[in-house]
Amino acid sequence: MLPVVQLKGVTHAYLGDNEASLAIEDMNLSIDKGEFVSLVGPSGCGKTTLLSIIAGLLQPSLGEVTVNGKRIEGPSPQVGYMLQQDYLFPWRNILDNAALGLELTGNLNEETRLKTVDLLNEMGLAGKSEAYPAQLSGGMRQRVALVRTLVTNPGLLLLDEPFSALDYQIKLQLEDLVSETLRHRGTTAILVTHDLSEAIAVSSRVILLERNPGRIRKVFTVPDKIRNSPPLYARDQTGFTELFHEIWKEMELAGSK
Ligand code: ADP
Ligand code: MG
Repeated sequence: MLPVVQLKGVTHAYLGDNEASLAIEDMNLSIDKGEFVSLVGPSGCGKTTLLSIIAGLLQPSLGEVTVNGKRIEGPSPQVGYMLQQDYLFPWRNILDNAALGLELTGNLNEETRLKTVDLLNEMGLAGKSEAYPAQLSGGMRQRVALVRTLVTNPGLLLLDEPFSALDYQIKLQLEDLVSETLRHRGTTAILVTHDLSEAIAVSSRVILLERNPGRIRKVFTVPDKIRNSPPLYARDQTGFTELFHEIWKEMELAGSK
């Protein structure tokens, strides 16, 4: 089967006035349909750069990225990208913000509007449709952004630390909800997170990057038993702690590089 995402020799340098800085170098990776992979690694190792390239927002300096076998030339409705900041429009109410992706792709109708309301309810935002972003907490706004991304049902979902600003309990609930929703839909996802236990709990593979320049240091496969448990219970599975420590050790080496 054709991989959903394929990176071949992807290299990116940011060009300044007098110098170029190499953000990522020679990244090679294939991600199959329905896979959920996490990217972890020290700050500045190129996680956001890589997601922006896969989203078609940034053209790599060298190498090739294909999504479903096609070289990426720009943003596409097939690829949902949730950024670190929520970027809600302050003058739109919550429902209108959440439905923005549907509106922009010409898919907003009575049915999809109701779907948006349902998803807002599921994310613990019942009764907030008419509110404005300024009236919501940071965690709530982040969940609205998540609904906006999920409701267009993209085949590939890119998530840049979507849970990092949330309270621990809400974060665990959302991990479960998102992972269940994606599994059910067969969505392929790439999650950036600095929470290693989250990475192991939700994904099939954990990809550890190192910095200066950003490279793939090591890829860890999550055992089936952990992968098939809901994230909340994955943490209790045998092998979880061992894998955590194995990746942790390697992370320390990557961070000190
Ligand atoms: P991460 O998301 O892993 O923290 P980034 O992809 O944001 O890493 O950054 C990778 C490297 O590229 C860092 O050294 C960062 O300073 C640099 N960088 C990121 N964005 C820009 C930019 N717009 N212009 C110049 N350098 C950048
Ligand atoms: Mg980042």
